[in-house]
Amino acid sequence: MVIRLVLFGAPGAGKGTQAALLKEHFGALHISTGDLFRRAMKEKSTLGDQVRSYMDLGFLVPDEIVMNLVRKELVDVVKENGFLFDGFPRTIPQAENFEQALSEMHHSLTAVVSLEVEQDLLVRRISGRRVCPKCSALYHVDSLSHGEVCPTDQSPLEQRKDDAEEAVKTRLKTFALQTLPLKEYYREKKLLLQIDGSGTPAAVFARLLSVLQPVLD
Ligand code: ADP
Repeated sequence: MVIRLVLFGAPGAGKGTQAALLKEHFGALHISTGDLFRRAMKEKSTLGDQVRSYMDLGFLVPDEIVMNLVRKELVDVVKENGFLFDGFPRTIPQAENFEQALSEMHHSLTAVVSLEVEQDLLVRRISGRRVCPKCSALYHVDSLSHGEVCPTDQSPLEQRKDDAEEAVKTRLKTFALQTLPLKEYYREKKLLLQIDGSGTPAAVFARLLSVLQPVLD
């Protein structure tokens, strides 16, 4: 089954975690614009320099930069067995531009899944989030039993710069102002599926699969 999904949700809603599970389940390509920007920063490329100040402070990267990147990715993405966009689109212009680019490639979205999580849980998840600099796996400090090292490759885990308190506040505000209106946009297009994003990754994943079932039949 080919699946073409957008994972939607506030910072800390669990988009990246669910995307990894969906990728394994459906064999679809996972594209996280945040990960692509973080990689560009690490490689110190021109793109990395362009996005660093926005990202570190918790602001959105300008639409034009995002769309240049996504349009490049899409060329390869549509050749694959479906895709999962995580963290994109984040503004109405990005969504309109995305739709246009997909239709030029004779593709359309299967669904947009919104992971619904309350604000205080979002903050708890983000402040405990750690990432492996080597394999990009995500963890929460509460579920690490052997200290802050990656259980897969033993690398010392890191905290994202934009997971610091001030940047988190900005990201949550930015989400409410610029990204939340997309829910109405996709609801009108009859693409929106909403699920409760609280609980364990496995519990959320089970909800995700069951809500997707009807659109996959
Ligand atoms: P989260 O969803 O937890 O905020 P992401 O990795 O998706 O994490 O995004 C981190 C940052 O990357 C955002 O705060 C923003 O600066 C930038 N970013 C990622 N995707 C986009 C996008 N589609 N549009 C604008 N900025 C983006």
